[in-house]
This record gives sequence, C-alpha cells and structure tokens, in this order.
Amino acid sequence: MKDTKLIQIMDGEDDGARAEMLQKAGQIIREGGLVAFPTETVYGLGGDALNPDSSRKIYEAKGRPSDNPLIVHIANMKALPRIAADIPEAARKLADAFWPGPLTMILPKTEAVPYETTGGLDTVAVRMPSHPVALAFIRESGGYVAAPSANTSGKPSPTLAAYVAEDMNGRIDMILDGGQVGIGIESTIIDLTVTPPQILRPGYVTREMLEKVLGEVAVDVTVMKSQEDCGQAPKAPGMKYRHYAPAGELVIVQGQPEAVTAYINSRAAEDMAAGEKVGVIGTAEVLDEYRANVVKSVGSRMDEESIAHSLYAILREFDDEKVTRIYSEGFSAEGLGQAIMNRLLKAAGHHVVDLT
Ligand code: AMP
Ligand code: MG
Repeated sequence: MKDTKLIQIMDGEDDGARAEMLQKAGQIIREGGLVAFPTETVYGLGGDALNPDSSRKIYEAKGRPSDNPLIVHIANMKALPRIAADIPEAARKLADAFWPGPLTMILPKTEAVPYETTGGLDTVAVRMPSHPVALAFIRESGGYVAAPSANTSGKPSPTLAAYVAEDMNGRIDMILDGGQVGIGIESTIIDLTVTPPQILRPGYVTREMLEKVLGEVAVDVTVMKSQEDCGQAPKAPGMKYRHYAPAGELVIVQGQPEAVTAYINSRAAEDMAAGEKVGVIGTAEVLDEYRANVVKSVGSRMDEESIAHSLYAILREFDDEKVTRIYSEGFSAEGLGQAIMNRLLKAAGHHVVDLT
C-alpha cells in the first residue's frame, strides 16, 4: 500500500505554491511513479510514457489487461516527432483544429515508445489535452505522460477526484484534485494510419466536426453494435472490454418520450414488486413522470453536453445506492449523441428495448 497524497490544485491559482506542487508531481513521474490528474475529458492516471516500468505500473494499478494500449499525452507539437514516426498532413490539420483538446490520434510509433505503452502495437495514440493543470503537469513530467482514465478497469471513468480516490487510494503516489472535469466522457479516437481515417471511439469531437477538416471519415462498425452483432472485434483493443459496467443490470429504452416513460414505469413496478431496487436515468424534461426507487436526472434533452457531463457520476451513484436494476432513456446517435449512446450501450452490454 502506498500513501496516496491528495493535492488540491484549481486552475487560475497561479501562485508559487501551485508551481511547487506541479513540480513535485512531475518529479514523481520522472522517477517512475504514478500521479492522477484532471483533464477536460475525465481524470487520467499518469506515468512516464517512455518508461516501460511506469506503463506496467499503470496496468497493475488499474487492473487493466496489458493488451489495452495507453494514450500518450503531450503539451506541445514540438513533442510529437519523438513518438510519431510519420506525421501526415491530416494530423497537422486536426492538431490545428482541435489541439489542445479532446481528440486522440493514432499514428505509427517510433522506437522511443516502448511496447509496454502501446500494448504491443506499432502505433501510438497521442493527445494534447487543453486543461491547464494537465498541460503544466505534462511539461513538469518531461513531456510524455501515458494516461488511461483513472478508474479501476471496468468502472466508469472518474469525473471527480473523489472518484479517483475511491478506486486508486493506496495504489498510486498522488492525486491532483482540479475539481469536476468539463466534458465528462473520454476523447474521440481517430486512426490516421488507414484511408479514409476511422473513428475508433466517438467523443466530444464528432464525426461531423472531423469531416469538416478532413473530408470523408469512417466509423468503426463496433462503435454502435455489439461484437456478436457485427462479427468483428473493435479496432481499439480497449473497446472490446465491457467498460463502465454498473453493478445493477442496465436496460436502455428507446422510443417516443411518453411510450418510454410508460414502459419504464410498468417494468419498474413489476421489478419493485419482485423485490428489486430500481433506478431510472431520465432527462430533466420528463423526470417527474417516473415512479421508481431512485430517479436521477442525467441532464436536459435540449443540451447533450449536460448529459455527457453527468453520465458517469450517475452510474457511480447508482452503484453506491446498491440499485439492482436500472432503466435509462435512449438518445439519438447523432453528433455528441453518438458518444453518449456508445458509452451507455457498453454499460448496458447492448441490452436495448426498442419501442419504435
Ligand atoms: P483510456 O485510456 O481508458 O481512455 O482508453 C484508451 C483507449 O485508446 C483504449 O480503448 C485503447 O484501446 C485505445 N488505444 C490506445 N492506443 C491505441 C492504438 N495504438 N491503436 C488503437 N487503439 C488504441
Ligand atoms: Mg478508460
């Protein structure tokens, strides 16, 4: 067991104490330790991306299968050539448009990147986050921080330092607490080693946004379908695992709002009569209509960003409340909705009731 230090570090406080804490955190990484830090998407669990021992420690702390590669976080474009063997025009255009920000690019790796970091692959996933604490921390760490989401493998990604502590206390050296994250779901991953470029994981940067910059962009079919339904494994090795699984059984209900509410209420009544503790993930507009043990608002249907922002916290809260059955409204798979539905479908093991 390690003594995990929890350090408060809010943006804006640009004083000597903040600089000193970031230096300390960077020193831990340079010496081969692990530090969790805030990004604009979710909290990351950082280690030195160029040190194979650090990557091994990350897998161990998360209980993550070691064939599931890590994203390397950089703080400026000058850092890219050391880890990417080829930087195509498309990468430069995307960097201009979306970096720093919630976009991860897959590029061929150089020898500087150990196979421990890439899960044995000859490609490397790279992102430049926009969170000021993340950028300062990466600079202090030597410029290359490998960081998966800072949760135990299989749990929802953490959107608060308290959730990182829940999963990682005693397993890592330090947690930088920068408050609640902004976006709430992980970065979009785009593979630039294929033509046309292909989205392996949807995120805040949508297909429409990418196509404006690149022209045609494909989407890995496994993004919205289960492996059994499409008969192939996801191209991002990590997407094959059942991520974000809540402890209770989760069912997504798609259809017209009134039909969805009525269906969920009737199933909830049956389940509660059978002794289940039932939770509902609903949108603010229809929340009052639900009858279940625990009803939570995931945000407004008019504002998909609010839904991305709350989803993981709600899944964790249902676990804390020991809910055994969860019903969630479904969302349209357009724009940011594609990322939201991708995460919900994985959490539900693709269990969907379609009333349309
Ligand atoms: P996380 O670190 O939890 O955000 O997960 C990182 C995701 O990026 C996982 O789904 C990985 O499989 C994926 N990934 C990382 N590196 C690569 C790569 N070189 N090729 C394809 N997918 C990758
Ligand atoms: Mg993750």
